[in-house]
Amino acid sequence: MKLPYAEPFRIKMVEEIRQSTQEERESWLKNAHYNLFNLKSSQVFIDLLTDSGTGAMSDQQWGALMTGDESYAGSRSFEALHETVKKISGYQYLLPTHQGRAAENVLFSVLVKDGDIIPGNSHFDTTKGHIEIRKAHAVDCTIDEAFDVDNPHLFKGNINLEKLEEVYKSHPKEKIPFCLITITCNSSGGQPVSLENVKAVKELSDRYGIPIYFDSARFAENAYFIKMREKGQENRTIKEIAKEVFSYGVGMTMSSKKDGLVNIGGFIALNDENIFRAASNFTIIYEGFITYGGMAGRDMAALAVGLNEATEFAYLESRISQVEYLGNRLIEFGIPVQKPIGGHAVFIDSLKFLPNIPRDQYPAQTLANEIYKEAGIRTVEIGTLLADRDPETRENRYPKLELVRLAIPRRTYTNNHMDYIAVAIKNVYERKEEIQKGYNIVWESEILRHFTVQLKEA
Ligand SMILES: *Cc1c(COP(=O)(O)O)cnc(C)c1O
Repeated sequence: MKLPYAEPFRIKMVEEIRQSTQEERESWLKNAHYNLFNLKSSQVFIDLLTDSGTGAMSDQQWGALMTGDESYAGSRSFEALHETVKKISGYQYLLPTHQGRAAENVLFSVLVKDGDIIPGNSHFDTTKGHIEIRKAHAVDCTIDEAFDVDNPHLFKGNINLEKLEEVYKSHPKEKIPFCLITITCNSSGGQPVSLENVKAVKELSDRYGIPIYFDSARFAENAYFIKMREKGQENRTIKEIAKEVFSYGVGMTMSSKKDGLVNIGGFIALNDENIFRAASNFTIIYEGFITYGGMAGRDMAALAVGLNEATEFAYLESRISQVEYLGNRLIEFGIPVQKPIGGHAVFIDSLKFLPNIPRDQYPAQTLANEIYKEAGIRTVEIGTLLADRDPETRENRYPKLELVRLAIPRRTYTNNHMDYIAVAIKNVYERKEEIQKGYNIVWESEILRHFTVQLKEA
C-alpha cells in the first residue's frame, strides 16, 4: 500500500483556542457591523481569514530570531536574507520592505505613472490599489477557464496570450511599464501558472519589448503545482523550478507573510541597477534604510530560514495536501467549491450555494457570516465587496465569481480542524433555503473598502 503523506514536523508548542456559543457569536457579529475583519481573534475558534502572516515558524526560525543582527546598516541578517533570495530567485538586488504591499508601493513609485496600463492575471487587491491610486489601470488577462469553477483546468492562473497581445497592440509601449504575473494567482483562487505559460508570456512580451515582474507571494506553492502537474517537471526540485520561473522576469515583489513562512515582511528583488537605485530612494522615504526596509534584523534572519523551508518538497506536499483534504471533504458533502482546489485555500462558490441572495446584497459576505455564526470559523469574502467600486463611475463592480475563501494558515491546524470546518459548512448548506436575505452597506471607504465596511441586515 502506498504510504499516505504525513506532516514533516512534530508539534513543540501549542496555543489555546476557545469555542463560543451561537448566541455570543451573533451578538459579536452585530457589534462588528457584520464585517468579520472587525471581530476580535478571541471571538474566533478557527481563523481562516487569511494565510497571510498567520503560520507557525519552525524551531530553526525561532533559533534564527535570537541571532538576528539589529544593526541599522549592513546587518548580518540582511546579508543572510540577500544570499538566500539570490539563490532562490537569481535576482541580484534586494530591498526589504515591511510587507508585500510596501514592496508594491516602492516599486510602483518608480515604474507606474498616470495613465499606464499593467496587464496581468487577476491582480491582487493591494496591487490593484497601488496601480489605481497612481491613476493607472490593471488589465486582467487571465484565461476564461479560471472563471468557471467546475472547469478542471490544471493551471487556472495562466494568462491568455490573445488577451495580452490585444493589450500590447492597443497601447503604445511607453504606457505599459511591465506585465505582472501573480504566482499563484490569489484572486482567481490560489490557482497556479504553468511554466509553459510563463515562457509563452515572456516570448510574447519580448516581441513588444515589455518586461515581466512577478507578484511572488506564493511562488513556492506555484512551483509545487508545476512539479506535480506539468509534464517533464516531475523530477526537478522546487528550488530548480522556482528559479527557472523567475529567470523569465526582471524582478519580483514578495509578501513574506505567505511563502516566506514568517509573520511579517516583504521585499523587492530585481536585476536592473538603475531601477534598484531609484527604488532605494523610495525605500528610504517609505520604509527605512535599504538594508532593513521596515524589518527587524531578527525578522530578516527568520525569513532567510523560512524561504529555504518553504521551498522544500516535503513541507509543500503536507501543506497543499491539507488544503486539498478540506476541499475533498466539502466536495463529498456536495458543496460547490472551485476545482481544482487551490494551493492556499478552498473557495466556495456562493452564487451556487446561496442563489436566493441578490448580488447587491453580497452573497459571499452573507455566506461567510453564516459560517461564522454556525461554528466560530472566520473566512473572507472574495466577491463584490472586495472588488470595490469602479473608480470613475462609482458603481459596484460585480466580479465573475462571488467566492468565500477558506485560507489555511501554514503548519497551524490539524486535519481534525479540517473535519470540523467541513461539517460546519455542511450544516449551513443543509439550512441554505432559510437564508433569504443578505446585507446592505451602511458605511464604506473610498478604496479597499472590504477591510472596514460596515453592513446591516437587508
Ligand atoms: C498578500 C499578497 C500581497 C500583499 O502582501 P501583504 O504582505 O499583505 O502586504 C500582494 N500580492 C499577493 C498575490 C498577495 O497574496
